[in-house]
Amino acid sequence: PDAKPRYKRILLKLSGEAGVGGDTFGIDPETLDITTEEIAQVVRAGVQVCLVVGGGNIFRGATLAATGMERSSADYMGMLATVMNALAVQASLEKKGIYTRVQSAIPMEAVCEPYIRRRALRHLEKGRVVIFAAGLGAPYFTTDSAAALRAAEMGCDALFKGTSVDGVYTADPKKDPKAERYETLSYKDVLAKDLRVMDASAVSLMRDNHIPIVVFSIRERGNLLKVLEGEGVFTTIA
Ligand code: UDP
Repeated sequence: PDAKPRYKRILLKLSGEAGVGGDTFGIDPETLDITTEEIAQVVRAGVQVCLVVGGGNIFRGATLAATGMERSSADYMGMLATVMNALAVQASLEKKGIYTRVQSAIPMEAVCEPYIRRRALRHLEKGRVVIFAAGLGAPYFTTDSAAALRAAEMGCDALFKGTSVDGVYTADPKKDPKAERYETLSYKDVLAKDLRVMDASAVSLMRDNHIPIVVFSIRERGNLLKVLEGEGVFTTIA
């Protein structure tokens, strides 16, 4: 088979844990290294990459709000956490010779660029990885919704959701040995069965714009490129 990537431009969504934190609070150097090596490989293969990293390895709004903090303040802290993760990924990618730009939905002049759609498109055309930080810049949302919106705005061919498991299962494969992996799923199935792959709002935005979601493991070295070439193990939602 010709091993050319199937997609020209993708948006890669990683949770804070899967992307940079591992099982620890803050940054786990090994997890970060695996993540950026995966990204570097596909950039070298000529794929244009947009990246959205969550903040759950540092702060998650709902968790903070459960301690009694006002929800919007908690969510802003969560958004700031995603900016820290974006800078960590940027620094690691640049050490590997990959050009990057961070664009934040909350303008932060001294730290990174503000989100400007047309400028982001230009960066992609030049082969730079664009890391979208601070989610949508609004509380009560998550970085899944931000990933879906940016994927649509950037005209991505697919939204890649990297997790610690290699696809979507009928049950949690870490707890249920009889859990089976789906090869493909419809958007409708994901929503109706409440499979919680991504937020419902993110899934419906992808459905309305006909952008497939590819769920795969980011923990396995070399896997992202394999999945992009249509090999390896993953679940496609379309
Ligand atoms: N967040 C927000 N609006 C956004 C994106 C994120 O309020 O548009 C906050 C929210 O509190 C969330 C936190 O940032 O819990 C971290 O993002 P998320 O939970 O999506 O991270 P992940 O689970 O992907 O690591």
